Amino acid sequence: MWNYYPELLATPVPRYTSYPTAADFGPLEPGAIERAIAGVDGDVSLYLHIPFCEKICYYCGCNTGASGKRARVETYLAALHQELATVASLLPSSARVRRIAFGGGSPNAIEPHEFMALVEALHAHFPLRAPEWSIELDPRSLTAEWGHLVREVGITRASMGVQTFAAHCQKAIGREQPTAMICRSIDWLRSGGVTSLNFDLMYGLPHQTMVDLADSLEHTRMLGADRVAVFGYAHVPHMVPRQTMIPEAALPGAEARFAMAAEAHAFLTANGYEAIGFDHFALPHDPMARVTRDGTLRRNFQGFTDDPAEVLIGMGVSAISGFPGLSAQNDKHNGRYRALSAEGRLSANHGIARSAEDALRGNIIEALLCRGEAQLPPVLTGEVAERLEPFTARGLAELAGTTLRILPGGLPYARVIASLFDSYRAVTQRRFSSAI
Ligand code: SF4
Repeated sequence: MWNYYPELLATPVPRYTSYPTAADFGPLEPGAIERAIAGVDGDVSLYLHIPFCEKICYYCGCNTGASGKRARVETYLAALHQELATVASLLPSSARVRRIAFGGGSPNAIEPHEFMALVEALHAHFPLRAPEWSIELDPRSLTAEWGHLVREVGITRASMGVQTFAAHCQKAIGREQPTAMICRSIDWLRSGGVTSLNFDLMYGLPHQTMVDLADSLEHTRMLGADRVAVFGYAHVPHMVPRQTMIPEAALPGAEARFAMAAEAHAFLTANGYEAIGFDHFALPHDPMARVTRDGTLRRNFQGFTDDPAEVLIGMGVSAISGFPGLSAQNDKHNGRYRALSAEGRLSANHGIARSAEDALRGNIIEALLCRGEAQLPPVLTGEVAERLEPFTARGLAELAGTTLRILPGGLPYARVIASLFDSYRAVTQRRFSSAI
């Protein structure tokens, strides 16, 4: 049972897929990403960004464009191939690639043969060590051929943008995908060997009711998604102009959004799913549930993860890389990214070098979001004690000595509690969404 305290959710907060967050990135020293890649030792994860979709959804805040412009897709993929070769040439021989993720956009918006060419380039250039392959997919552009390709590559993890099964909500967000289309996609992916299938669901959508949400959750359960991510729609048309297509008056209010988040949590945990942090759920057999139980769940640029690697190299326009002391983002402008990549140069010109204090605060934020508990150094205990009071007084968190614990009713406030350790906030809050 969650209680609604609007005053505690009034301030927008980041999702903390890194600390410092991408909003705090600034210009990087020339050569920073090259030095970071050259210093890699041991396990590495790779992320390839495909910034195209067959149809653009009205709500989408991602860096993506329509895949119909073939020349644009082809020049982008040529630049991505060049970047793969450049990154691989910098990696030392001690590096081992254990995970490869394709995201976007929608990786299945490119042609299957173009996708296979990227897979072949990865095999040719990188030291792959039985990597785990994962992919984000749009059911609207999925075909049986992609199911075969999933098997051929050895992809075992897939994430589908489902969002809602309610047809009227789908229409309002510009993403119409009948249930039969989703079922057909699941069949192709399961027969292709996918053992961990994630559904992204959303609440707070235009015209969405509690009945709509309950129906989507029931479909999700029946269709056997191994993982479910439940996100609140963030309506920020001042930052994402395409969202002006969504009528603001049709959006559920803050209290209704809170009730929806609570309903999703209650339904999924009552139906065999384990809660992963504040907005993810997984069936007990799924690796994400296993790492949550053993206390090794992590957070990286892709969200909650069971990936233990300290290095994630992102490739493609706007992709973010994470190293122990550095976050670096590729150029967000497609033309500049392509031009630099074509010259054999890496485009990561923005990011942040993490200080010792950043690392300390980042570890606390990650521990709170992943494990609901963190050990605080005495200096920070004093700093946040007063600001924690609204949460401890309402039974949402407890501070016992130097141990800060988020209590069960405090889960919807986890991001807000974590933000108390963020020394960069205060300046850029308008860029973020409500924690619920
Ligand atoms: S399919 Fe996904 S990435 Fe593409 S426009 Fe829709 S929400 Fe955005």
